[in-house]
Amino acid sequence: MQRVNLLGLPRDALIEFFAELGEKPYRAEQLMKWIYHHYVIDFDAMSNISKKLRERLKTIAEITPPGLVPLLNSSDGTTKWRVEAEGSSDVEAVLIPEEGRATLCVSSQYGCALDCSFCATGKQGYAGNLTAAAIVGQVWQVNAERRDDPITNVVFMGMGEPLLNFAAVTDAMNVMMDDFAFGISKRRVTISTAGVVPKIYDLAEASDVSLAVSLHAPTDELRNELVPINRKYGIESLMTACRHYIDGLGKKRTVTIEYTLIDGVNDSPDDARALVEVLGDLRCKVNLIPFNPFPGTSYKRPSNNRIRRFQTVLLEAGLPAMLRTTRGDDIAAACGQLVGRVEDRTRRAERYILRSAATAAP
Ligand code: SAH
Repeated sequence: MQRVNLLGLPRDALIEFFAELGEKPYRAEQLMKWIYHHYVIDFDAMSNISKKLRERLKTIAEITPPGLVPLLNSSDGTTKWRVEAEGSSDVEAVLIPEEGRATLCVSSQYGCALDCSFCATGKQGYAGNLTAAAIVGQVWQVNAERRDDPITNVVFMGMGEPLLNFAAVTDAMNVMMDDFAFGISKRRVTISTAGVVPKIYDLAEASDVSLAVSLHAPTDELRNELVPINRKYGIESLMTACRHYIDGLGKKRTVTIEYTLIDGVNDSPDDARALVEVLGDLRCKVNLIPFNPFPGTSYKRPSNNRIRRFQTVLLEAGLPAMLRTTRGDDIAAACGQLVGRVEDRTRRAERYILRSAATAAP
């Protein structure tokens, strides 16, 4: 019999699991504290759980984190990890330590089916979803190694499109934010999407985490080329979805607009002016990410002058626009450089995903 992995199960689901065993809800809290506060995953070491229940748990359940192997340390303190879950593929996670905080960039899928033209992950194809255990497990493993200095921020900006792995990603976020687990605040958990519009509406129903949108172009014509899912959900519907999402949050919350600057492609002052138009009065801040090169791409990073000129147009129009300093690019850990080991089962999967994402349009 397959044992159920209790890692990554939200508290509600754990309460239900224990109810089926005839156990009270507080068992879920006890178990979560062992797993997430004490890093104990051996049922036998859980001293406040009766021997009888422990024996029962051992026969039907397990607590199995993914393997996490430190790959490389960047000169700027960034660490890249290989995440080994079930199957033949693995993914990467990146730890970015900064003054007063530690951000973990997690992966949600083996590869990615969206095939954005400037992203190394997209180029390698897609081989499936991570489980909630494998997603929460990335935080669990890194925290287990740095107990006194736990992860403070989680960004779903590693490999994969998190909104196309909706159930596992929302379960994983619920666990990360639960006080019986890591207690990370909702503002410090960020989902980044290439623009799976119907799922942004679903996310608004399911949570109030921070939202980042990978826009990268001010016109549908250009965005169709860079971010192919735009052919399904154009910029206007994406902007409407963003407004809907932040309307549901407090007044002080904003959407982060990610814009990768690619030399001669989307980085002219005219592009910047068009971007100002597109964003209109959306409550947002813009993160400008200079393109990070990877083997086999013909795109280039713009000169600092061009980058500054683009940023200036936004700032002068009153848009908060930050230049995201690239971290970890000496170890291929920067945005769009994560690849892992993915056996491509893509092209058919891609068409399927684009089609099935379309069916839920609001
Ligand atoms: N699929 C989600 C999560 C990935 S986040 C999304 O698209 O939002 C990774 C971010 O890095 C995205 O904004 C992505 O567009 C950007 N990116 C991808 N490749 C890049 C590259 N080569 N250089 C700079 N940014 C890149």
